[in-house]
Amino acid sequence: MDWQLLDRDREIWNRELATFVPPKVFDSHLHLYELSHFNGPPPGLVAKGPASAGWAEFQKRIAEIMPDREVTGLAFGYPQTTVNFEAANSFLASECQHALGAGLPTPPLCQMLIHPSMNADFIRETVQRDGFVGLKPYHLFATEKPTFNAHIPSFLTDEHMRVAHELGLSITLHIVRSQALADPSNQEVLRRYATQYPNARMILAHAARGFNPHHTVVGIESLRGLRNVWFDTSAVTDCGAYEAIIKVIGHDRLMYGSDFPVSHIRGRCVGLGDNFLWLTPDNTKLDAAYADVQFTLVGIESLRTLKVAAIACGLNDKQVEDVFFNNGAELFAERLRV
Ligand SMILES: [Zn+2]
Repeated sequence: MDWQLLDRDREIWNRELATFVPPKVFDSHLHLYELSHFNGPPPGLVAKGPASAGWAEFQKRIAEIMPDREVTGLAFGYPQTTVNFEAANSFLASECQHALGAGLPTPPLCQMLIHPSMNADFIRETVQRDGFVGLKPYHLFATEKPTFNAHIPSFLTDEHMRVAHELGLSITLHIVRSQALADPSNQEVLRRYATQYPNARMILAHAARGFNPHHTVVGIESLRGLRNVWFDTSAVTDCGAYEAIIKVIGHDRLMYGSDFPVSHIRGRCVGLGDNFLWLTPDNTKLDAAYADVQFTLVGIESLRTLKVAAIACGLNDKQVEDVFFNNGAELFAERLRV
């Protein structure tokens, strides 16, 4: 049931979201890939979908979640321990250059998938040669194990921050450790990186990994006043984290992100105790006497969560358009052709 849009999903869109999502969208967090980029079997979600998820396939798929929208965005490979970095990065560069060369109205921007062991010269040369606008590190490549408890410098090093500062690159960073933004060591490193490398533009993925919203609510004050830190909304489906970001940092630092292909999982991620849990048909028995309870797609749940935040924070139409498009367009103003 992943990768399939059902009538009941469309009904939610029509009833709740069609009048909320503006016509132009900058999707700040999306993955493009091919199954052949993985050594060995590809990750489960990816394996169930198309063999090649390039820009054209993405356009087709995102139109299932949000029909009739003009979507551009920021794309990168799918980070997995088995990924072939060279193949994944070449694919991204060629997809973005192809879209640009073909004169498509909304060609995407792309980030380079990086490993902490890559040397700074190699990253600098690759970024400049292939036209990447930023970097995509990931905790699965961290030197510290287990990687879900890794400190930021073990997957995003000072050396790489220096390159990002020098070239004005964005960095989509998915922080980990059990408390995410409420973790004092994460707070300390984020503040240090943002002040020591002011030209680097950090985008904290998943509302600073606010899958348990309380962690973002508790930790957000630690980033107050930093103007080179942004947040993407990708795959967050529980209320509270977006609101905390809008109220403390400002709506102009929050950017919509689909996290395609995660957008096409049937399920929902909820805060639970001091952690979070991805509820999916595989681990959840939907057995209720009072109704026919069914999952919808993560992409739809996340849009609903964003709508709740917009209402709670009293965002006007222009501010909603900022979150969906203008904030991303402004962040990449020199690079985006719109
Ligand atoms: Zn992602």
